[in-house]
Amino acid sequence: MLIKNLNLKNFRNYSEECISFSEGLNVLHGKNAQGKTNCAEAVFYLCTGVSPRCRRDKLLIKRGAEFAELSAAAEGKYGKMEIYAKITETGREFRLNGNKITRNADIMGNLFSVFFSPQELRLIQDGPDERRRFLNVSISQLSKPYYTALSRYNKILEQRNNLLKSRDLDSVYDSLPVWDAQLCKYAAIIAFKRAEYIEMLSPLAAEAHAFLTDGGEELKISPEKKYKGSEEELEKRLFSELSENYARDIRLGYTASGPHRDDIDIFIDGTDAKTYASQGQTRTAALSVKLAEVEIFKNLSGEYPVLILDDVLSELDLPRRKKLTERTENLQTILTCTHAERVLSGRQANKIKIENGKVKN
Ligand code: ATP
Ligand code: MG
Repeated sequence: MLIKNLNLKNFRNYSEECISFSEGLNVLHGKNAQGKTNCAEAVFYLCTGVSPRCRRDKLLIKRGAEFAELSAAAEGKYGKMEIYAKITETGREFRLNGNKITRNADIMGNLFSVFFSPQELRLIQDGPDERRRFLNVSISQLSKPYYTALSRYNKILEQRNNLLKSRDLDSVYDSLPVWDAQLCKYAAIIAFKRAEYIEMLSPLAAEAHAFLTDGGEELKISPEKKYKGSEEELEKRLFSELSENYARDIRLGYTASGPHRDDIDIFIDGTDAKTYASQGQTRTAALSVKLAEVEIFKNLSGEYPVLILDDVLSELDLPRRKKLTERTENLQTILTCTHAERVLSGRQANKIKIENGKVKN
C-alpha cells in the first residue's frame, strides 16, 4: 500500500496544501504546533473514517471555515485509487474513485493504516475502553461484518439500556428476551471476531516485543476466557448470561455484561502490565501491539499498511529506535518529529518540513 499524495483544504490548521509522499520513510518535521500531527491524522482519517485523536469530525474543520476537504491518491494491489472526504458541520461524505460511499462500513478496508503515537500508551495503561477501541478500529478495517455488527449492537444496546430504566417492570421483563435475541446475534459476531483477532495478535506481539527488547522481556496478551467456541455457542452463552442478570441490569439501569464491557489482559514477564509496567516497558508493549497489527494486515490482505508514527522515535532509546527502523524497512512510514536529523541517524528519508500549515521547500 502506497500513499502518493495528500490534499488538504481547511483541514485543522491547513488552508490548502498538497503533500507528496514517497515509498519507505517519510519524515514530517518542524517546530511544535505547525501541523505535523494534523497531517498524519488526515492520512489515518482517510484510511479509516476515524480520527486517532478526537471523536467529533467537526473539530477537524479549520476554525472559521464551513467545511474541510481532504483526499489522497494511493496505490494498492488492486491498482490506483483516490479517496476523498468532505466534512461539514452537519455530516460528512466519502468518495472512492469519485463514487460516493453510502455505507460507513465501506469507508474502511480500502486503505490500511496503523497509527502509533505517545497517546497509544493508553492502550496498556488505561481502562478497557481504550483496548476495545483499538480492537474495534483494527478489526473493522479488516472485516465489514464486524463493523456492521458493532454499529447494530451499539444501537440495540442503547435501546436496551433505555428499557432498563423504565418503571413498568412487567413490560421490561416481557421485552428483554426480544431485545436480547437481536443483541446476542451481534454480540456473538463481535466476541468471536475479537477472539480470533487476539489469537493472531498475541504471538505476533510477543514476537515483536521479544525483538524490540532483544529477548529480555516476555509479552503476553490473553482474550476473555469465556469466549471459547463457535459463534452459535457464544450467542447462546451470551443470551443466558443476560437472562440470568435481568434483576442486576434493572437495578443498575444499564447492561453490565457483554462485549461493550470486555477487556484483554496484557502481561509483561508474567505481571499485569496495566498495574506494574514502567514507562519504557509500556511504550515497548504498545509499540509491539502496533507492529503486530501491521503484520496482521499484511497476512490477511497481502499488503503492508501505511504506518504512521507520530512523535514516538524521540522517546525510544537508540537500540530500540534502530530495531524499529529495521522492522519497518519494507513499509511506507509517515513519521513526525521536531528534529529530523536527531531521529534519522543517517537513514535515507523523504524529508518534509512543515511550517504553519504549509510545506516549506
Ligand atoms: P507538536 O510538535 O507539538 O506535536 P504538531 O506540528 O504536531 O506539533 P499539530 O498537532 O499538527 O502540531 O497542530 C498544529 C496546530 O493546529 C495547533 O496549533 C492547533 O491549535 C491547530 N489546530 C488544531 N485544530 C485546528 C482547527 N480545527 N482549526 C485551526 N487550527 C487547528
Ligand atoms: Mg504533533
